[in-house]
Amino acid sequence: MKNVEIIAKPQAAHFVGDGFRVHNLIPSIASATRMSPFILLDYNSTYNFPPSEIPKGVGVHPHRGFETVTIAYKGRVEHGDSSGGGGVIREGDVQWMTAASGILHKEFHETEWSKIGGDFQMVQLWVNLPAKDKMSIPKYQAIANHEQTKVKLDKGVVEVIAGEYQENKGPASTFTPMHVMNAKLDAGGNAMFSFPKHYNTAMIVIEGNVMINGKEKAPSDHFVLFKNDGEDFEIQAIDQAIVLVMSGEPILEPIVSHGPFVMNTREEISQAFEDFNNGRFGYLAD
Ligand code: MN
Repeated sequence: MKNVEIIAKPQAAHFVGDGFRVHNLIPSIASATRMSPFILLDYNSTYNFPPSEIPKGVGVHPHRGFETVTIAYKGRVEHGDSSGGGGVIREGDVQWMTAASGILHKEFHETEWSKIGGDFQMVQLWVNLPAKDKMSIPKYQAIANHEQTKVKLDKGVVEVIAGEYQENKGPASTFTPMHVMNAKLDAGGNAMFSFPKHYNTAMIVIEGNVMINGKEKAPSDHFVLFKNDGEDFEIQAIDQAIVLVMSGEPILEPIVSHGPFVMNTREEISQAFEDFNNGRFGYLAD
């Protein structure tokens, strides 16, 4: 059995730009090495944004060396990048962006949603890339909710984004082996999970309260880190619940990160700054 290592309540939140009020979970609670290949996890727990004519968010900024995965639970995010990609991430949707060799992008509340405002709940996960893929061509995968693989349970459903659940594969293509999925359970519903022992595994209780392995209670907005001591664990919903589950094979390479760049050496970070300052990440209007 995979046992719980930590159940952490959300720490103080901070703003990213003016549109994302997040609790940092990785690396604050579990380090980037401990949770590799997941190197950053920002959780915007439900927060009410009043109506705004000017969409709130984060202006043009670069990334290199990894992927950003944005999962929307409440509210809508509009995204644009220097490769010409863009789109709206709606409730239940996921955007899997491979920054790789370098991208400029901006992330804002979607214009029409911003005018109305309301509850906003979102996750941004950063997935590291192995050294051999860090300088590959940027791309992104828009994964609408209906494109996720739905695995029906007795009392609920597992929506697979990446990897697989009970041999049902999710749509995202990844560079290294990992599983990312949402379990949406009715009160009393349960789901069994099984991931290799050495995969780093964690979850966020997005909504409701759950019991883990029939022993420990994890309330809403809590982050659960699992030990690498076994394969299987079970969650049971006390009330209607949504749980984001992630598990991945660690990338056993050095991590050198600075702000929006995550590479393997300090030289590569210097190179990233030089390339960014010389306009080699392309162009994106404000
Ligand atoms: Mn970004």
